[in-house]
Amino acid sequence: MSSSIPPGMLKEMQEVGRDLYRLALVTSHGGNLSLRAGHDMWITGTGTMLGRLEARHISLVRADGSHEGPPPSSDTVLHATTYALCGAQALAHAHPRHAIALSFDTGLFVPGDLEGQLHLKEVPVIEQGPRQVEQVAQALAANLVVLLRGHGAYARGATLWEALHWVTALEESAHIAWLRGHRCPH
Ligand SMILES: [Zn+2]
Repeated sequence: MSSSIPPGMLKEMQEVGRDLYRLALVTSHGGNLSLRAGHDMWITGTGTMLGRLEARHISLVRADGSHEGPPPSSDTVLHATTYALCGAQALAHAHPRHAIALSFDTGLFVPGDLEGQLHLKEVPVIEQGPRQVEQVAQALAANLVVLLRGHGAYARGATLWEALHWVTALEESAHIAWLRGHRCPH
């Protein structure tokens, strides 16, 4: 018999996924979410709609890499590597548009607004390439949220609600920076 995600974890994924979609932080089929469960993790299936998650869309990935349920997200190795490196219990990946726009021209986003300074301090921008998984995971061990250049944000937390907080804080700070005209920091 295959395992099914516990109702509390499902509810957390559904509500955070819906919020990310409704806040336009992912496209209809973009982004992914995971929750650690001991040495295993629950992670959204590849190509699932975060705004309309059901139990059948969520895969259980075990420590040995095997899975039950739908094909897990293409970012599964990144989630597993991050969990191996830090004490995070939850990870969210989204596509916050102002943050992505800023990521093209900087290696480190430092929020200028008070909320961003308080919560995020600074956000590393990782270059896409063969080492991006390891680099994003390492950066997440030291930071709450990290940007992958030209792609999106990865945020960690004790819960998905915390990860949602950091994604929304990042996008708010990036939007403010954009409005201030800090498109080209060099
Ligand atoms: Zn993505």
